[in-house]
Amino acid sequence: MARTENGKVALVTGGGQGIGQAIVERLHADGFKVAIADLNTDAAGKVADGLGGKDGGATALRVDVADRDDVFAAVDRTVSEFGGFDVIVNNAGIAPQTPIEDITPEGVEKLFSINFNGVVWGIQAATKAFRELGHGGKIISAASQAGHVGNPGIALYSATKFAVRGLSQTAARDLAKYGITVNTYAPGIVRTPLMENLAKQTAEAAGEPEEWGWRQFTQGITLERLSDPEDVAGVVSFLSGPDSDYITGQSILVDGGMVFN
Ligand code: NAD
Repeated sequence: MARTENGKVALVTGGGQGIGQAIVERLHADGFKVAIADLNTDAAGKVADGLGGKDGGATALRVDVADRDDVFAAVDRTVSEFGGFDVIVNNAGIAPQTPIEDITPEGVEKLFSINFNGVVWGIQAATKAFRELGHGGKIISAASQAGHVGNPGIALYSATKFAVRGLSQTAARDLAKYGITVNTYAPGIVRTPLMENLAKQTAEAAGEPEEWGWRQFTQGITLERLSDPEDVAGVVSFLSGPDSDYITGQSILVDGGMVFN
């Protein structure tokens, strides 16, 4: 079906690959103009080109979400390139193994600076833009099923995702008066480069083949299959559109039935 523009603009961090890329492609198909903000400019540029570039309603931006000024600049550029701003998807994140006894101050600093601080800067920059434009908007951030239940071996990652949920619940309450909703999506085990690295690291640490590493993560999925990035993109599409206008402060699990609340 041909894409019909919906007159709205979305920015997706970490949109160069994996879940972020699927979100970009889905929102673009939904009719949004999309800014693909990533540390990896080559990857972001390829995704933008695949959607027809600026004329097709897709632009690539370099951003390091750990850097507050960078995130504000990316939102400003999106507003000036596309003339509006309606949705931010704070998707960028990293997921190294962090066994409890090996956690260092540098490890805490690095993981929180991307997975948590990056969401704080995204919320602030989007709020500023929405208020300057004189309308509300939607703030959507990546949590994880590991942000609902502590997962073995990835304590710091789990902690950042619990923190993103806490932050988003308060932001939902604080920003409602501006017509802004704030929600998170909580994927399960999604086939992306991030998950491949984690499965490999887990297998290597145990001296087992990669396939064994994947099995450690797939046990307990009710729907008995790994997730594709498009499963997550569908939920973000819902959270970005008018059908979710009465939802705020929530974390939507899209994990095939790993965690039941
Ligand atoms: P991925 O590693 O495949 O892609 C992440 C993208 O973010 C990459 O393009 C990377 O260049 C970019 N990025 C990394 N650090 C950045 C930074 N500082 N600034 C800007 N961009 C940066 O990851 P993914 O699997 O697609 O995960 C996306 C999000 O979903 C993450 O927040 C992740 O924690 C979350 N998540 C993933 C899974 C999964 O199974 N893959 C499960 C639950 C939650």
